[in-house]
Amino acid sequence: VKDIQSVYLDSTFYDPRFYQIPTREVCLNGISVLIGNWISQSPYHVVWLNCKAAYGYEYLFTNLGEEFNTRIHVNHLAMFKKMPEILSYVTTDRRMQIHACRHPKDEEFFQGNRLPCGCTAPDGTPLRIISIKPSTMWFGERTKKTNVIIKTGASSFRACFSFHSSYSELKDFLSYLRPVNIYPSVIPLGRTLTEVTQMLKLMCRNQSDQAAFIYKPLGVLKRNRVQRPTQDSGSDDELFDGLDVAPVRKKMGLNHEVKKEKSPERTAPP
Ligand SMILES: [Zn+2]
Repeated sequence: VKDIQSVYLDSTFYDPRFYQIPTREVCLNGISVLIGNWISQSPYHVVWLNCKAAYGYEYLFTNLGEEFNTRIHVNHLAMFKKMPEILSYVTTDRRMQIHACRHPKDEEFFQGNRLPCGCTAPDGTPLRIISIKPSTMWFGERTKKTNVIIKTGASSFRACFSFHSSYSELKDFLSYLRPVNIYPSVIPLGRTLTEVTQMLKLMCRNQSDQAAFIYKPLGVLKRNRVQRPTQDSGSDDELFDGLDVAPVRKKMGLNHEVKKEKSPERTAPP
């Protein structure tokens, strides 16, 4: 591994409370089974994916589209037009069994057994709708049973879907790189900057190592991909939605470009 001087870490879950977050594969599987069991019952059984953020669900949409050989109903295609690999899995055609459309009052719509887009069956048969809300779930180190689907109402579910790395993943990553400096980009919920800085300090290369180390710059940063600054800000607001934790997380004003440095192979020359 190359010598890494500094890491700017997406430290959203850098806290032992967030020790494990089920993998996307496991989460997707749980969601697929739930959807499959529902929509296979009749053409009037539909699913509403209650996705708040604009971006971040591409993995979910493409895999569900593939699995059920369908497209997902969304309000607009414009936001996906630069992502052709997703475009073929979304549609503005409302006659779908899986919806991720939105309406300013969509929760009320759902309570009234209506989809946010207002779609109804052509023959007037009432639709049977379940809602699935993707949100981050985490489990402590010793938790064995990690359920990724939680029933939250007669026809509503919460499903685990994470946009961030867990504490154990971050720790593995840092122990592998052993950088000299680690800068947090987010203060984990309920923590302070001092606390997270102290916890990260433990993962830094120690001072004696450092004396023997002569820093060689990695080279010019390549920027093949333009990162959209709003990429996951929306989803961040929703991370803790519906959970018993106060939304007091603070951002530190670091831009998302540095935050993404977590994948150093993307910015380092070959
Ligand atoms: Zn819809």
